[in-house]
Amino acid sequence: MEVVILTGASRGLGAALADQLLSSERRLVCIARKPNPLLEQKARDRKAWLDYYLQDLTEIEASDMLAQSICDELPADASRLTLINNAGMVEPVARASALPNDQLVRALNLNVAAAMLFSSRFLKGTEDFAGERRILNISSGAARSPYAGWSVYCATKAALDMFSRCVKLEEAVRPNPARIVSLAPGVVDTDMQATVRELDPEDFPNVERFRNLKATNQLASAEEAARRIVLYMARADFGTTEVDDVRNYSTSSEQPSS
Ligand code: NDP
Repeated sequence: MEVVILTGASRGLGAALADQLLSSERRLVCIARKPNPLLEQKARDRKAWLDYYLQDLTEIEASDMLAQSICDELPADASRLTLINNAGMVEPVARASALPNDQLVRALNLNVAAAMLFSSRFLKGTEDFAGERRILNISSGAARSPYAGWSVYCATKAALDMFSRCVKLEEAVRPNPARIVSLAPGVVDTDMQATVRELDPEDFPNVERFRNLKATNQLASAEEAARRIVLYMARADFGTTEVDDVRNYSTSSEQPSS
């Protein structure tokens, strides 16, 4: 039995990932603020093992306790253990001179601190695990290209990339190293993109580009993006390229597109 821990499973990319990962062969442990009744119904229909925790991941102490309780009880005889840090927010979107304090802290907590502490608890809780351990951080192209108005979002995703690079180095010298990847998922048709399209050009000068992507059907559906990520997660060389982009690979297989 494989175990996958997935944050942000109530909607968007995380909900599509959860749907595709639900299986009687796998225990799926989901975390979000809101429930996902459709996923729970599908779990009953497929006789799949689903644990679903309601937690605001910007609340760091409570999130840390939850991460510890999940990661300390992972089964020693699992075939593979995977953590997917997917939950994220694009706000606050504003010039750096106008960042609202509360949103700034929430973004740092959710996009960076929660992902780091789940990774930390996961690595600690699975230190003696003999099988494969994988961490997938859902990053963004914004980690690697600056956008005016997205200083917080870009910086938080860049932090995830660098965190993954450092953890890879730490793990490389340990017995049975955990593998880690910070993966950009492409531009995906979710609530987050709807939020982006509504932004004021004063706050986000690139807004028209994202409106055009939607208008010209260039967004990946959440299902398609999740399918590509699930394929990516199964790659034998997972972790070799620790900062990666799902668009570097062909849509129909695991093979590199170039
Ligand atoms: P959505 O806004 O559609 O969904 C975000 C998910 O994160 C939801 O399940 C939400 O659940 C959860 N979440 C948000 N805030 C919190 C919180 N405070 N505590 C716990 N969970 C929370 O985003 P996407 O599906 O589009 O994005 C998923 C990931 O992909 C993010 O990390 C995003 O940065 C990244 N990404 C997305 C792109 C896109 O084009 N959509 C492009 C590049 C990267 P709930 O509200 O129930 O808590």
